[in-house]
Amino acid sequence: MEFDKAKKYDYLIVGAGLFGATFAYLATQCGKSCLVIDKRNHIGGNCYTENVDGINIHKYGAHIFHTSNARVWKFVNKFAKFNDFVNSPKAYFKGKYFSLPFNMNTFHELWGVETSEEAQAKIAEQRLDIDEPKNLEEQALKLVGKDVYETLIKGYTEKQWGRDCKDLPAFIIKRLPLRFEYNNNYFNDVYQGIPVGGYTRMIEKMLAGADVRLGVDFAEIKDYQHDLARKTVYSGMIDEYFDFCLGKLQYRTLRFETERVDEKDFQASAVVNYTGRDVPYTRIIDHKRFEFGEQDFSIVTKEYPSEWKDGMEPYYPINNEENNALAKKYIELASKEQNVLFGGRLGTYSYLDMDKVIASAMDIADKELYDETV
Ligand code: FAD
Repeated sequence: MEFDKAKKYDYLIVGAGLFGATFAYLATQCGKSCLVIDKRNHIGGNCYTENVDGINIHKYGAHIFHTSNARVWKFVNKFAKFNDFVNSPKAYFKGKYFSLPFNMNTFHELWGVETSEEAQAKIAEQRLDIDEPKNLEEQALKLVGKDVYETLIKGYTEKQWGRDCKDLPAFIIKRLPLRFEYNNNYFNDVYQGIPVGGYTRMIEKMLAGADVRLGVDFAEIKDYQHDLARKTVYSGMIDEYFDFCLGKLQYRTLRFETERVDEKDFQASAVVNYTGRDVPYTRIIDHKRFEFGEQDFSIVTKEYPSEWKDGMEPYYPINNEENNALAKKYIELASKEQNVLFGGRLGTYSYLDMDKVIASAMDIADKELYDETV
């Protein structure tokens, strides 16, 4: 792709996801010129939604917006009207449905208990009394006991990581919150919803003041990035920026299988988690339910986790000790890179929810655009 090198932008923004779009909006509001590139042929990053016959398909997995950050909530509401969707997924295990997150509905479905005292007594009876869990299985048994672990955690986690829970480190599960009330709202946040009309439309509005070029890989223009713009704001993979000079960071990825089915009510929930090892996928998403669609057909997606290799989409960083140590070294290199700001989930090698990504872009923009000492 050829660029007009006679025009020098204030910012070259790599990645048209929420991080890049938030920074681009805030910079253009301050009168700065921005060139946003993305190697994909669409904006929106992993939040991208594609409208198919009136249904907004979450192409890279179900995205439910939730936050307790009032500034972030006010910000996203400038670009979209949010509906009152509440995430209350179901889990399916061996012919039975269970409520999530783990709450009194789940305990009633598992054991028929009715009061929180009965549920707490049951959990206490099942918990493994152990000081230092050696692996994820022991950690989960210590936190929630046998029935919750075997029905709702074991198979799902093993599919997610492609390994037996006995071979996974305990630190992956730090907490497993148990709610001793009848409440299926997955999130504890103050605000929650789905942007009506999809995330792509929302992000399009955020990018309205910037020049956007799609299908452009930063690698093609890295050598002359500073001819194109005064500064670069980079939200691609941090190790890739440095040509993997210290080694490669690892990720888990997902394969999505989407189909249209001629059923109005394919499943009675937007998200159903399949927690048994006997089913190869981890979730089925019924897209129209995010916006309360009334269509007499459904578009559904099965999610299959798998190992990440070159050329695949890197979805989840594997934050084990080795990767974190390597990421730290790259972050040190990044801090010395002149006129380049790193951010977003790939630029920091961390799993960040949408609100956290927006908040981090705001922090960087506040410092960059308003702090005269920078
Ligand atoms: P991205 O969205 O990944 O955007 C980065 C962009 O940079 C990409 O478009 C990429 O193509 C581009 N890029 C990378 N390298 C280059 C390059 N070399 N040249 C040009 N362009 C490049 N969060 C929630 O709050 N709620 C949820 O329900 C939720 N569900 C999720 C489900 C899944 C399966 C996943 C993976 C994530 C989910 N998230 C959720 C997290 C959410 O996706 C992220 O917070 C958000 O997408 C991060 O935005 P970002 O801009 O940092 O990264």
